[in-house]
Amino acid sequence: KMQGVSGREEKILVLVRLRPLSEKESASNEVADWECINDTTILYRNTLREGSTFPSAYSFDKVFRGDCSTRQVYEEGAQTIALSVVSGINSSIFAYGQTSSGKTYTMVGITEYTVADIFDYIQRHDERAFVLKFSAIEIYNEAVRDLLSTDNTPLRLLDDPERGTIVEKVTEETLRDWNHFQELLSICEAQRQIGETLLNERSSRSHQIIKLTIESSAREFLGKGNSTTLAASVNFIDLAGSERASQALSAGARLKEGCHINRSLLTLGTVIRKLSKGKHGHINYRDSKLTRILQPCLGGNARTAIICTLSPARSHVEQTRNTLLFACCAK
Ligand code: ADP
Ligand code: MG
Repeated sequence: KMQGVSGREEKILVLVRLRPLSEKESASNEVADWECINDTTILYRNTLREGSTFPSAYSFDKVFRGDCSTRQVYEEGAQTIALSVVSGINSSIFAYGQTSSGKTYTMVGITEYTVADIFDYIQRHDERAFVLKFSAIEIYNEAVRDLLSTDNTPLRLLDDPERGTIVEKVTEETLRDWNHFQELLSICEAQRQIGETLLNERSSRSHQIIKLTIESSAREFLGKGNSTTLAASVNFIDLAGSERASQALSAGARLKEGCHINRSLLTLGTVIRKLSKGKHGHINYRDSKLTRILQPCLGGNARTAIICTLSPARSHVEQTRNTLLFACCAK
């Protein structure tokens, strides 16, 4: 397991969030077969398949029912990890799940709550000077694009001897206030829609990473040359739809490269599995753009939460089970 700063063993926090049936699903006589029976266990209940052999109960650090708010998911799950950034600890919060399971719905809220809490923290700690930076990228077919720039040229990854892998020329905005943050979010949203007729198609294939970086130094040392700057980042990753991985995963060792296979999603799965098993050997961060970019914020002293989002619908049972299997591997 990973060593935390306190010296205790850190593991990846695995949360599961079930969404409610949508109105459309309910109207088309869709049935909800999944139920959270307590704070940690989710159960598959399909009376038509009673006695079937696959496991029906799955347990995680925390499971959230369809009527839980994103606020609750944040406070009871992601908050501690996201806010470790103010103490100089890197972290990553992922949303993993099939398209339409609630990844974006969950991540947008969690990003907003974190930014609000960080602004609040900065206000209450005027003994330190803070700079909060915001950047946003998208990885689509292993090409990295800047979501704050209208320039569509893919960004290159560079190896910096001190900072590790960096995204060359990525726009970093210094956040002034809440309105500025909302403005940047809408620029990202607009950037993603350019050239896409079907936004859903793009969001099912691409990964979005919003990165907040906090730099701070004690005011009494400012300008005295001996001030030490504390810097850390928290990443919010809205992953490509997990249906992009399952096809390839089921192919197992015969895995071949193909347009339907999402290299970043697959490599992330391998990296997460190794980290969660506490394997100290080689971890293949360099096999994909996503894991290369996130390497400083995955493993080591960094903290990680994965929110697995699920549709309760009977017709989605295969993908739901795939997501739960991924979640089980991560814990
Ligand atoms: P994804 O990003 O995984 O493709 P979305 O976040 O876009 O999925 O969610 C699909 C739809 O379901 C959206 O209309 C969203 O508002 C709704 N939704 C998702 N999760 C919830 C939830 N927990 N409660 C209510 N509505 C939700
Ligand atoms: Mg989405």
